[in-house]
Amino acid sequence: MSSANDPGLRSWIPVSEDSHFPIQNLPFGVFSVGGEQPRVGVAIGEFVLDLCALFESGKLRVQGLEENVFAASSLNPFIACGRSVWTDVRNTLSNLLREGSGELRDDASLRDRVLISRTDVRLHLPIEIADYVDFYSSEYHATNVGRMFRPDNPLMPNWKHLPVGYNGRSSSVVVSGTPIRRPMGQTKSDDAPAPSYGPSRLLDFELEVGFYVGVETALGSQLDVSRAESAIFGVCLVNDWSARDIQKWEYQPLGPFLSKSFGTSVSPWVVMLEAFEPFRCDGPVQDPAVLPYLSQSEPRGVDMNLEVWLKSASMTQPLKIAATNFKHMYWSMAQQLAHQTVNGTNLRIGDLYASGTVSGPTEFERGCMLELTWRGEQPIRLAETGEERKFLADGDEVTMTGWCQGQGYRVGFGEVTGQILPAIG
Ligand code: CA
Repeated sequence: MSSANDPGLRSWIPVSEDSHFPIQNLPFGVFSVGGEQPRVGVAIGEFVLDLCALFESGKLRVQGLEENVFAASSLNPFIACGRSVWTDVRNTLSNLLREGSGELRDDASLRDRVLISRTDVRLHLPIEIADYVDFYSSEYHATNVGRMFRPDNPLMPNWKHLPVGYNGRSSSVVVSGTPIRRPMGQTKSDDAPAPSYGPSRLLDFELEVGFYVGVETALGSQLDVSRAESAIFGVCLVNDWSARDIQKWEYQPLGPFLSKSFGTSVSPWVVMLEAFEPFRCDGPVQDPAVLPYLSQSEPRGVDMNLEVWLKSASMTQPLKIAATNFKHMYWSMAQQLAHQTVNGTNLRIGDLYASGTVSGPTEFERGCMLELTWRGEQPIRLAETGEERKFLADGDEVTMTGWCQGQGYRVGFGEVTGQILPAIG
């Protein structure tokens, strides 16, 4: 195991047991203070460590890192340095921050320059996103949604043979905290003779986990499933906002289009895939056996807790409305990438791949309102105000959080949040 993942490590920076940002995590993001230029930082406890300033100080010495790639408004220049640089930077930071290391701790003026309270920073979209693909890889989610529309045959015949996905829209991926405008569009209810135009009335969230590609591959080449994880830079939380009424009318035969492209929220912190190494676990048994190009021997899953919280405009506290685990996903990240490239599709640095809605076996483990309220038939009651929700109302704020639980520490993302604004028009 990487020494940066050692469960026994502690930092000289105090980190509470329930913080998502202990020394074992060190997730990357882009931040700014006041009107200053955005730059790259790492979260540790209640602080952001300014990698741009740390590099300038000469304390971040890593082979292959000649220029200050942290003086950038995205992680892309850093990611382009390659895996050995990512790993060496993480290990160097781990060494600087661990208990007993005085190089940064004892340099008061440098310490004050590079450690900034997280409450004083603004977090930006961390990556310039190239392509965005969304999968549909939870058997529980696919079965639940399928059952609503095809009770006798919920899973499509292809579902257990390939990770179903569609090409999404990268231009409208936004960082956590960005408000989401209720989309206008075309919908048609079953009993209406013709479609109508107006604000979506069935606005939903989708709880997902995404990953960013960290390499370029050539058009016409394939990425073997056994090497696919080496192409992944890091992992994030994703909320794939979805307008169910627009989706229902538009999706056949080419899949979702305007029902998804109006906004997708991502967490500001990107956790390197190797930080999840201690939390890897087996995925569900794949039966029938998958084709050889999708057959993966190493553990496919990650034991990661995921929660969804909802706060209406009248509530003072958010209410937890769902909790599940990423380990339930039928198709793994490696299988998704192997499938994406089996036809020769090239990968680009900054490609975002989202898992699809993460749902688990029980009712509270359903990762979207469509499932939680069963198409609105079983509304969620918001106890504090007595309000009910079948789908999202204007002013509702949805917050998702995710973390892996270690012995006395957590490796997580913080959160991805967004509030619904009324439609224009
Ligand atoms: Ca989705």
